[in-house]
Amino acid sequence: MPVGTAASVKSVPQHLLEELGVQILLGNTYHLYLRPGVETVRRFGGLHGFMAWPRAILTDSGGFQVFSLNDLRKVTEEGVTFRSHLDGSSHFFSPESAVAAQIALGADIIMALDECTEYPADRRRTQASMELTLRWAERSKKYFDEHKHEVPWQQYPVPSTEYPVNAAAVQAGAITHNSGYWVLGTGYSQSLFGIIQGGMDLALRKESAERTIEIEFPGYAIGGLSVGEPRPRTREIVEATLEHLPKDRPRYLMGVGTPEEIVEYAGLGIDMMDCVLPTRAARHGLLFTSEGKISIKQARYAQDAEPLDPNCGCLVCRRYSRAYLRHLYAANEVLAQVLNTLHNLSFYLDTMRRVRHSIQLGEESRFLSSVWSRPKP
Ligand SMILES: [Zn+2]
Repeated sequence: MPVGTAASVKSVPQHLLEELGVQILLGNTYHLYLRPGVETVRRFGGLHGFMAWPRAILTDSGGFQVFSLNDLRKVTEEGVTFRSHLDGSSHFFSPESAVAAQIALGADIIMALDECTEYPADRRRTQASMELTLRWAERSKKYFDEHKHEVPWQQYPVPSTEYPVNAAAVQAGAITHNSGYWVLGTGYSQSLFGIIQGGMDLALRKESAERTIEIEFPGYAIGGLSVGEPRPRTREIVEATLEHLPKDRPRYLMGVGTPEEIVEYAGLGIDMMDCVLPTRAARHGLLFTSEGKISIKQARYAQDAEPLDPNCGCLVCRRYSRAYLRHLYAANEVLAQVLNTLHNLSFYLDTMRRVRHSIQLGEESRFLSSVWSRPKP
C-alpha cells in the first residue's frame, strides 16, 4: 500500500496511481485529523469523495504518529494526550475518538487504537503496554459496532459509470445498482482491524495474538516492529506472531519495508504491507531498480543515456534517460519528485505483482504435485 499521508501520495495525482495499478492506499488519521479536520472530509462523503479516489483506502488509528512525532505525549488508561506538530495545540485520542475520526474519514479498512511499545523495553513495561492495547482494542470494537452505520458514504449514492465497484460486493448484495447509481446496502460498512503488540517478547506476542483474536476482528495487523530493533529480530517476531494468526483473515505487517523485505514477509504469509520508503526515498533521489539502489544525484549519471532501470517498463523508464533524471534532481525541479516517485511506486507494485504470480504458480505446482504423487491404482 503506497502511503498517502495527507490524502495525497506525495507528488502523484490519483489518475496516475490508477494507471500504475494501485488498488489500495493508506491515509494517516493523525495528519488528516489536524488538517483539514475530519468534519471537512466527512462532508465530502469521506476520503473517497474528498480525494476523488474510488478504490480502497486504509487509515491507521493515529496512534503511531502520536508516539513517533510527540515527545510530549501523555498516555493514560483513558487515551493519549498529544501536541499538534503544526501549531503546538493540545489534543486527545481515546480508542473511541480515534475510531470516530476514522468512521468520519470513511476508509474501507480502519485500525484500532494501540500503544506502540518503545524499543527497547523490559518485560514488565512490554506486558503492561500490551494489556493496555488489548483493553483499547475492546473499546475500539465496542464503539465501532455501535457507530459503524455512521460512515459517510452510506448516504452517498455514487455514479456507476465513474466508479467501477468490486464484483464480489455486488454479488454479495452489499452494493446494488439503481438507475445509474451504486447504492450501498444497509449493514455494509468499514472493516476494523485489531493490532498485535507484545514488543520483542515471543510469549507476549503469542498472548497478544490469542487475546486479540478472542475480541474478533475481520483482519489482524502486527504492530510495534521496525522501531529500531535489528532486522533478524523483526523477522523472528513476524514469523512467531504469524503462527498464531488465522490464515483465513488478512494479516497486515505495519510499516515495512525494502523491496527485498516485502518479498520475504509475503513469503512468510503476510498479506498487506505499507511503507513510506518508496515515496520518501524517491524525493531524496534514491531509486530502487532491478540492479540495486541508485542515487540519481551522483555526477556519474550526468552523461548516462540509459533508462533508469532497463528491466522496468514504467512510464519513466520507457521515456527518460538517467542523465535527464539526474539533471532534474540537481536543478531542484518539481518534476524530479514526480518521476522518481512514479518509478519507485512502479517498482514496488511490480515486485508485489511478481509475488502474487509466484504464489499462484506455487499453488498450481502444489496442486499438480498432489495430483501426480497420487498412488497409481
Ligand atoms: Zn521504472
